[in-house]
Amino acid sequence: MRRGRRSGLYTIVAVHSTVLGPALGGCRMWRYDDSRAAVRDALRLSRAMTYKSAVAGLPLGGGKGVIMLPPDELAARKRTDVLLDFGDTVAALEGRYVTAEDVGTSARAMVTIAKRTRHVTGLARSRGGSGDPSPYTALGVEAAIITSCDRVFGTTRLKDRSIALIGLGNVGRRLAASLARRGARLLVADIDPAKRAFADSIGARWVSGEKALTAGVDVVAPCALGGMLDHETVPALQAPIVAGAANNQLADDAVATLLATRGILWAPDFVANAGGIINIAVELEPGGYDPRRARERVRGIGDTLSVIFDDADAIGASPLTTAMELARRRLAGAG
Ligand code: NAD
Repeated sequence: MRRGRRSGLYTIVAVHSTVLGPALGGCRMWRYDDSRAAVRDALRLSRAMTYKSAVAGLPLGGGKGVIMLPPDELAARKRTDVLLDFGDTVAALEGRYVTAEDVGTSARAMVTIAKRTRHVTGLARSRGGSGDPSPYTALGVEAAIITSCDRVFGTTRLKDRSIALIGLGNVGRRLAASLARRGARLLVADIDPAKRAFADSIGARWVSGEKALTAGVDVVAPCALGGMLDHETVPALQAPIVAGAANNQLADDAVATLLATRGILWAPDFVANAGGIINIAVELEPGGYDPRRARERVRGIGDTLSVIFDDADAIGASPLTTAMELARRRLAGAG
């Protein structure tokens, strides 16, 4: 944790693990009540990145960057200053941590950070980077939905499958468009009414978030915020599959067991939504970034999920348990 010499703001980098490779993790720009809360968030998120990369089979560790915003609005000039300060914090780690975009930062922010360190990913394609990760996250979630449907319905075809998708943001919008192209019947929800025009344009039915979550559909795809699955919502679910992009979908780990007990197949979020980081990891491969290779690797999420579901069936555990176990095996193998 360092106080930036230009901006006077705190920039934090947490490196949880470098056992499999350099610790990759986004730079989150957020307001926190105090610096302890910011450090706690960086530590929690960096640990999650270790498991996400390990289960995806990437040669990467887990890390996270946090820029602690002041309570008042940040002037554009000061925003640049704090990104440069963050770049200095990253540079001081000499490659043990590699940054990327996250909540509150963008590909443009990465360009500013890159003025102070070369350990930056997610630059625009025109600058040799992998650009916006959202299309790859959407592609990975689609692979997770296909694998889950194969498991439950015995077919990978999505034609006429009914899917309720919650959150039409960067990922949800792309996922919905692709599912519609495959012939799925979509119910969609977003708290932003402006997203309704997009729903109409792809022939999706617009419903409330609550209706989407509890609809009698084949698949529910949470693509908004976390914490949607808890001890009250899970008993109300009717869909036999939950697979979506949202991070931290479960209110707590016991919800994974509740889902399994109800016979609902849940694709662990950190497996299903790893497409963005898998895409970024291609930037770090010796051949450099190649979108074709990235798409191939992201589709591999389907195979990873199959292993996780097989293991869960074999030992009568939830997919959360077997996904964590797969990550631990990969970490132990490398360590
Ligand atoms: P986004 O901010 O672009 O979109 C989120 C959408 O959800 C917005 O349209 C918002 O209006 C809507 N929303 C928020 N709360 C809602 C609610 N209660 N009910 C219905 N709609 C609601 O975010 P994104 O980049 O599309 O990411 C979506 C989720 O996927 C997030 O949880 C994110 O952490 C996770 N994720 C994203 C990526 C990526 O590449 N962008 C990678 C991994 C995980």
